Amino acid sequence: MRVAGLLVARTLEVVSAAVAEGVTTIELDRLAEAHIRDHGGRPSFPEVPGYRHTLCTSVNEQVVHGIPGERVLRAGDLLSIDCGAIVAGWHGDAAVTVIVGGPEAARPEDLALSRATEDSLYAGIAALQVGKRLYAVGEAVEASIEASGERLGRDLGIVEDYVGHTIGTEMHQDPQIFNYAVRTRGPMVRSGYTGAIEPMVTWGSPDTDVLADGWTVVTADGSRAAHWEHTVAVRDEGLWVLTAVDGGAARLAALGARFAPLS
Ligand code: MG
Ligand code: MG
Repeated sequence: MRVAGLLVARTLEVVSAAVAEGVTTIELDRLAEAHIRDHGGRPSFPEVPGYRHTLCTSVNEQVVHGIPGERVLRAGDLLSIDCGAIVAGWHGDAAVTVIVGGPEAARPEDLALSRATEDSLYAGIAALQVGKRLYAVGEAVEASIEASGERLGRDLGIVEDYVGHTIGTEMHQDPQIFNYAVRTRGPMVRSGYTGAIEPMVTWGSPDTDVLADGWTVVTADGSRAAHWEHTVAVRDEGLWVLTAVDGGAARLAALGARFAPLS
């Protein structure tokens, strides 16, 4: 899974570097597919019935599942890029949010939203621990988003209509991983567990709609949304963020969580 995860990480690096004003989302999709196939993998999203692209590209008020197409990116657009790959039967799944034109082109609230979402992802990852309950992830994500919201003086919306998932020989496996606190504590995490944590956060209401294309999820109130995701392995020795180039070493250290790669 590290091989698949690293390929997803590198693909997201390549795609993110190609994001610029005037580029279309289908161009990014072709770039991602070529990179995955050139490095011994195959895109996993086409295994989802009815979907045929390598990426989901969700712009501004689009939350997730945006379909790559002829849309031309504009400076200041808030773009989330979700990518999945399979290598030797094992899956990696990750998403990043970037701003077209870079931070200098960004609206300050978009930078803050993206940062808060990524912070909540790592808060959720750090809550993964052998012997603890899986739904501690959602409690940590929610607490992180609430803290960011207080700092920003803004109620951020955690999308509840879509959640993270267990991953391995298939992309979407049970149990799901909520991005918010729920009444139950969930299954016990055991050594060797692998999950994809993926908070989706809005600058307004958490409510969403699906566009007529049957895929694209948008915020009901038109506010912008960010999405960050990593595939993570949990062992007795600690955590390994399989879709981070550094395995999550830097972010985990900053959170006091144990980093435990196998290689
Ligand atoms: Mg994903
Ligand atoms: Mg996922």
